Amino acid sequence: MDKRRTRNAIASAASGSPLISAGTFFTNAKRAAPLDLTRMTQRSATKRPWKDTLVDMLVGVDADTIVIGAGAAGLAAARSLAGRSVRVLVLEARDRVGGRVWSRPVARNATPAELGAEFIHGRGELTVQLLREAGAAAIDTEGEGWTCSKDGELRREDWDLSSTAGIFEAAGALPDDESVDRFLRRFERDRATRETARAARAFVEGFDAADPAIASARAIASEMRSGVDFAIARPLGGYGPMFEHLRNACVAAGVRIWLSTIVRRISWRRGAVAIDMSCGGESQTVHARTAILTLPVGVLRRRGDELAVAFDPNLPDAKIKALQSIEMGHVVKVALWFRSAFWERVRDGRYRDAAFFRCERQSFVTYWTQLPVRSTLVVAWVGGPKAVALSGIAEAELIERALNGFGALLNEPELAREEFEGGLTHDWGGDPFARGAYSYVAVGGGNARAALSAPVDDTMFFAGEATSTDDQDGTVNGALETGERAAAEAATALGVEAR
Ligand SMILES: Cc1cc2nc3c(=O)[nH]c(=O)nc-3n(C[C@H](O)[C@H](O)[C@H](O)COP(=O)(O)OP(=O)(O)OC[C@H]3O[C@@H](n4cnc5c(N)ncnc54)[C@H](O)[C@@H]3O)c2cc1C
Repeated sequence: MDKRRTRNAIASAASGSPLISAGTFFTNAKRAAPLDLTRMTQRSATKRPWKDTLVDMLVGVDADTIVIGAGAAGLAAARSLAGRSVRVLVLEARDRVGGRVWSRPVARNATPAELGAEFIHGRGELTVQLLREAGAAAIDTEGEGWTCSKDGELRREDWDLSSTAGIFEAAGALPDDESVDRFLRRFERDRATRETARAARAFVEGFDAADPAIASARAIASEMRSGVDFAIARPLGGYGPMFEHLRNACVAAGVRIWLSTIVRRISWRRGAVAIDMSCGGESQTVHARTAILTLPVGVLRRRGDELAVAFDPNLPDAKIKALQSIEMGHVVKVALWFRSAFWERVRDGRYRDAAFFRCERQSFVTYWTQLPVRSTLVVAWVGGPKAVALSGIAEAELIERALNGFGALLNEPELAREEFEGGLTHDWGGDPFARGAYSYVAVGGGNARAALSAPVDDTMFFAGEATSTDDQDGTVNGALETGERAAAEAATALGVEAR
């Protein structure tokens, strides 16, 4: 789309009547999306005043709200708005819904390979409710922890999260925020607290996927106080059925979901949004009254290449500042599956009930089984700077390293190779529609999530895990809740009654 003409269109949108300005937007579109007249007519007959619909048809508004992204936040927002009779169009760059949730079935296994999210953190009420709707269930994680000691032996040791939380309590009272690295170093110097501080550092790297040199100690302290890390469950059978259900519920409520549609530019003025996108190599522009953006922070921060999303005019300074204080954490996660759960048999069955294996010296610091479901699938995981160190390594090599690490951990390298059937991984850092795994707050970024989540001109609304302000950032449940929050904000701006 011609940038100058878009600007003119927006200028007239700002000054003229909504009807004329929206029409100007429409004229400037390279190829306008066909309007869904059948659905519009049906809706007008039942829930919306016919005049609204007729005006929209004349001026070329494609939807009341365009939702960008069909991950947890986007689908939750779309479903919620459609339930309020708002006409919703979802634009998604990938050829699938789910975003950073990606369940891949594995032959002969009750549990899929979850390349993205796998667990439910905290109480996860919305997640549990959606699982029920989907005919699925959540099960608590259980099983033993085994940690490698200096002599290389695995010893029974569960992760003591309460001492990590204890050490971070002092961070809440810091006069000024500081990095996790600086905060923990003073405890690491003291012999009495050294081991606890090291475990806390490992937690921030492994669990928050954060770089301790950048991460805010206060933000981690707040996360610890919230208790979100203390309860962990998993969807029985994986997240796949829940997202399938969400998508079906959206479609049944009249939401249009356009996959393989990459948003390139978002032009906006109060009450009007024009979105340039490319779909199968073709450019197209769509228009709406409001937009909900669920783009990951890594995507929003991206500048200067053809995959960056441009804003016209640029985002307000407060948003730019917020984006500078929220980082994308990095994770490398590899799913490995075997002919049998051979680790349950070795060493006279001592690892039969193992849920987690940990070894800081390994490239992959943590391995976990699928307990309480007995399965032949094992996941290798590393987060934070150690994950960044693996960036650029080919997927086949990562799978190989994960397999070798698991064999070495159990002291059964040959058996692990013999039993190995396959592996899967995904490079979230290199993924242009994610640019990392999940977000964390940098030093001094205390209000950044609230600033990122704030609406702009009652026209652009922001959702996605990074906009969660109650310590559920970086989780599926947090993302779902932000989607519902942004939907309520957009509904109010559109003058639609609450559900
Ligand atoms: C390896 C890994 C493990 C994780 N483990 C867990 C876990 O165990 N439990 C948990 O709760 N959470 C976990 N998470 C985090 C969780 O996956 C996310 O917090 C959540 O899925 C984010 O949802 P969202 O809707 O905010 O973002 P996303 O799911 O990223 O949705 C945003 C959507 O926008 C789309 N998009 C991006 N750019 C464009 C564009 N230009 N045009 C159009 N569309 C675009 C993307 O394709 C994507 O579908 C994990 C994440 C990763 C990567």
